[in-house]
Amino acid sequence: MDKRAEEIRKLSQKGPIQLDRGGYDGGSLPRAEPHAELTRPANIAKREGRINCPVCDEDISARAKKCRHCGEVLDANMRQEQMAERRTGPHYTRNKSKIAAGIFAILLGGIGVHKYYLGRIGQGILYTLFAVTGIPTILGVIEGIIYLTMDDEKFWQKYG
Ligand SMILES: [Zn+2]
Repeated sequence: MDKRAEEIRKLSQKGPIQLDRGGYDGGSLPRAEPHAELTRPANIAKREGRINCPVCDEDISARAKKCRHCGEVLDANMRQEQMAERRTGPHYTRNKSKIAAGIFAILLGGIGVHKYYLGRIGQGILYTLFAVTGIPTILGVIEGIIYLTMDDEKFWQKYG
């Protein structure tokens, strides 16, 4: 009996010392930094505050915002942000060429070719109808310069 009690006493003394060496008590680390995950010794992997990633089933910190194994975002807020980004992000296509639109506008803008190219059919028809006035030619040159000097992403956002 005495031996057992002694063992228990020793173990309870060991507890906090191990924590100090391990450096992870499940709460003192800054919130879920991926680097903290990477530098943490493997021998403390099986501790409280650990979960299995729902996607790849690897052992990760319960506080991790992102799985370090498969990259899956686990933090609810971060996930929402990412999904919002996906919704508003590449919301547009990148099929149209800025250069082609610019060249069409400057050389053939007088009959509205650039408008047809960019899918603005209604405007294209107007340009064609008013071609004899020469106004579409002037507008075409201005628009061509605008296309060519425009930021790529902005151009695609507008015309895809
Ligand atoms: Zn994972």
